[in-house]
Amino acid sequence: MKHLTVLVAIIMAFILPQTINAHTRVAYAPGETSFSVETNEDAQQVTLRIYDNGMGGKPTKTVNMTKSNANLWQATVKGNLKGKFYTFDVKYGGKFCGECAGIWATAVGVNGKRGAIIDMSETDPADWDIDTRPNIAAKDLIIYEMHHRDFSIDPSSGIEHKGKFLALTESRAIEHLKALGVNAVHILPSFDYASVDETRLNEPQYNWGYDPVNYNVPEGGYSTDPYKPEVRINEFKQMVQALHNAGIKVILDVVYNHTWNIDGSNFQLTRPDYYYRKNADGSYSNGSGCGNETASEREGMRQFMIESVKYWVEEYHIDGFRFDLMGVHDIETMNAIRNAVPNDIFIYGEGWSAGSCALPGEKLGMKANITRMPGIAVFSDEIRDALRGPWDSNKKPAFLGGIRGNEESIKFGIVGAIQHPDVDYSKVNYSKAPYASQPTQMIAYVSCHDDMCLVDRLKASIPKISEEELIRLDLLAQTVVMTSQGVPFMLSGEEMLRDKKGVHNSYESPDEINHLDWGNLERHPEVMEYYSNLIAMRKAHPAFHMGNADMVRENLNFLPIKQNFVAFHINGRNVPGEKWGDIYVAFNANKIARSLEVPNGTYSIVCYKTSCTPNGGINTVIVDGKINIPPQSALILHN
Ligand code: CA
Repeated sequence: MKHLTVLVAIIMAFILPQTINAHTRVAYAPGETSFSVETNEDAQQVTLRIYDNGMGGKPTKTVNMTKSNANLWQATVKGNLKGKFYTFDVKYGGKFCGECAGIWATAVGVNGKRGAIIDMSETDPADWDIDTRPNIAAKDLIIYEMHHRDFSIDPSSGIEHKGKFLALTESRAIEHLKALGVNAVHILPSFDYASVDETRLNEPQYNWGYDPVNYNVPEGGYSTDPYKPEVRINEFKQMVQALHNAGIKVILDVVYNHTWNIDGSNFQLTRPDYYYRKNADGSYSNGSGCGNETASEREGMRQFMIESVKYWVEEYHIDGFRFDLMGVHDIETMNAIRNAVPNDIFIYGEGWSAGSCALPGEKLGMKANITRMPGIAVFSDEIRDALRGPWDSNKKPAFLGGIRGNEESIKFGIVGAIQHPDVDYSKVNYSKAPYASQPTQMIAYVSCHDDMCLVDRLKASIPKISEEELIRLDLLAQTVVMTSQGVPFMLSGEEMLRDKKGVHNSYESPDEINHLDWGNLERHPEVMEYYSNLIAMRKAHPAFHMGNADMVRENLNFLPIKQNFVAFHINGRNVPGEKWGDIYVAFNANKIARSLEVPNGTYSIVCYKTSCTPNGGINTVIVDGKINIPPQSALILHN
């Protein structure tokens, strides 16, 4: 096997060009437009067609492109082509693959079928040149994961541009995010994807969007006019600008690990089989669980990912990237991406795959390999499942449901998956060793778009749960998340006690399942109040986000665990900028009160039962060394 691997590597070195520095980008100038497209070596002909529209009609010009090197074809068309559309059609073995926009399109017509020729500088909103990324360190981030349509589609949102990029430019949206206190929105796939038909936007259509078509173009379904290529680009930029003006970062959910399909993808239509991994038997590997997986280890795919990420940073001022199924990508590519963008760009991903990949596990961007990917973070399913229950059953409860044995996994999540002397890793649910070098390499969360949202999960896993109990446990769960030394992350709408009527995979469910009901802000104001106060507390107190593994080991120590009870102490005096001295945090998931042992003294209570008052706690004197923590709630106090 070893010899075979070496042989394959030698053959690949001959097949692959030494450097790939030309892209199929379209260079527009008023006098002429140049086109280039990368192909496999055996391409026989490439036809470029120019159209007046993004769909329909006959080409107004057909050009035979010229082969300029083994893998590159080029053409220059005279005249002013602004406003026109184009396709490439590559011939192999006597057959044309079919028309497509190429992999590098930065503007497209409706449904992304044809590339568009525009002047990108005309898509900038006013003052775009002075737009800057908010200066927020990774340790200070509080991430809000949202879908454009979920967020604003319900009439109760009061937002005008429902389900559009522009929704996030409206004061109703911005003021809500600011009131909650999150400082980064992670937007579900917002590049051009396939599953929403942009010609039928008057009909309700829904999809999460994990079916990429054009990676470097905003999705038309979220624009007010998908037929006009410049509109989606301009509106996306307006969104970024409005969020930046509010001090909120914009993180893009990127899905380079697979495409919508193989046969019709821009990858396959230009370089058949080059961008996809195959199994030894010649079948397509399916580590994405979506029918294909891309081959990030190949020079052309790696370069595409690096250039694409850089493009979003430079053209759209994007602040961070969440890599879908990062465990499908190779470590070398992830590190190359990390090094290709500025340090303040936050990069994280799912440190797992959805099936087995045709690349050895030790080369993949898996959670267990994150120490070899400095500056990149992964989601912690340890803390998530220790709180809500395992991913493979919606009905199984865990810590929140009063199931013992999850305490060490909670502790693992509190320290941010780093080495800590007080954590017994042998009792952690999934990882028997710490995987993060720094706490900012771990994302702390209890719910995201995948699986049930928190309310549904609590209902499904705790039979006959009362509303009062549900709210107590909801607040307890987020208190764990927001006091983790990892980077906290929440699903949009949890602050509105969101439910999805029990649907756990709502990727194409209708609005009545996925929408946020803003009316809940009035029906359950205590939830939003607790969340926003909890977030405000975290932001105001560096002790909860030290951002440094040594500092966490030195200043955070756990108190002895009890069943369904986890407590820790932070020595705030040693944390730069921290005003509080001894900080005690306790999580009691039992249905009865538990006592926390603390030294005698006067303490200020910050979080108690369903209230969190970061700016003026209730003072209490502890004389017998103990304080009671009510059932199913968190307690935070300090002196
Ligand atoms: Ca689309």
